[in-house]
Amino acid sequence: MTIHKVGVIGFPIDHSLSPVMHNAAFAALGMTDWLYDKIALMPDIVKIGLRELRDHGYIGVNVTIPHKQAVMPFVKPDAIARAVGAVNTIDFRKNTGTNTDVIGLMDDLAAHDVMVSGETVIVLGAGGAARAAVYGLANAGAQVIVVNRTADKAREMIESLGVKAEIMSADQAFDAGGRIVIHCTSVGMHPKADESPLEAVPQGITLYDMIYRPAKTRLMGQVEAAGGRSIGGLGMLVRQGAAAFKLWTGVYPPVDVMLQAAHETLEKRI
Ligand code: NAP
Repeated sequence: MTIHKVGVIGFPIDHSLSPVMHNAAFAALGMTDWLYDKIALMPDIVKIGLRELRDHGYIGVNVTIPHKQAVMPFVKPDAIARAVGAVNTIDFRKNTGTNTDVIGLMDDLAAHDVMVSGETVIVLGAGGAARAAVYGLANAGAQVIVVNRTADKAREMIESLGVKAEIMSADQAFDAGGRIVIHCTSVGMHPKADESPLEAVPQGITLYDMIYRPAKTRLMGQVEAAGGRSIGGLGMLVRQGAAAFKLWTGVYPPVDVMLQAAHETLEKRI
């Protein structure tokens, strides 16, 4: 039996949830000839590493920190990857690269009935995750306001994405009517779970927090204490993986199975 190999490259890679998610979906679908590996790839050998994986018959890989930008010269990035400036999924059959974080976020917002078209949406952050969020939200018709510690980085991000978005302080953004917040900074992520990017939040807002470790961040607690709704980021991780799975296999995987596998693995770690 020929094994169809896919995987994730990163450094370090031990903590990636992708193998359990994808392998659970292969098992649920009876795809016993598919296998998802995790591959530790040192930053100075990215080019050689990609060639080796291709030569060894890998169909594709997910790409995580610190390689998301570094792989770009060695694949053909599609329009989304070029706009976001990062590749997180490679298909070696065509040597193409895409970025499924955008669809992962937008699909998970839709799955939670968070409608963004025509709404004022506040994006906290201006790093890689925020780039995917601002691109997806602006293209979905949201009025985007970016709040970031370093305003210059927010400006550079908006310019390079080529989308329409404003830059404000958090107070200004809430005063301007922002009632949906997408949290894209690393503040509050394990092991610094007692931190929050905001001192206070208004009543009744909706928060999508991209952090999934811990499952409930301090910011999510603040929002709920103020009568709002909060959603953690595990669904985005799963749905970006589901989009990669579909790209490689042609089959859209059972998202609930992937979510359960990721959730159980995280529970064991905390
Ligand atoms: P990144 O590129 O390093 O960006 C980090 C962002 O956090 C920057 O905007 C930075 O602000 C801000 N920040 C860092 N420390 C801060 C502090 N002490 N106070 C205020 N702002 C601070 O990271 P990333 O790749 O965008 O990832 C951000 C988060 O999203 C991480 O927690 C990551 O796990 C999560 N994420 C989740 C998913 C998912 O599928 N759920 C996908 C991607 C990322 P400056 O610009 O001022 O430095």
